[in-house]
Amino acid sequence: MAVVKADPGLCQGYANCVVAADDVFDLDDDGVVVVLRDEVEESEKDRVTDAARSCPVSALVVESS
Ligand code: SF4
Repeated sequence: MAVVKADPGLCQGYANCVVAADDVFDLDDDGVVVVLRDEVEESEKDRVTDAARSCPVSALVVESS
């Protein structure tokens, strides 16, 4: 498993993460990132890591658990 973390204080609402992985990331009504699943399977880790890296303000982290 891998752990997904977001820093809402950094998020600028660009939504790159949502476009890349809408099963893991969403935006709330204020346009701030919400993590829908804070744990993802190892098989999903690369895809979710790519989505996290697409964030222009580095608000997202995916770590091995
Ligand atoms: S890509 Fe980054 S700035 Fe954009 S919504 Fe996701 S976390 Fe927020």
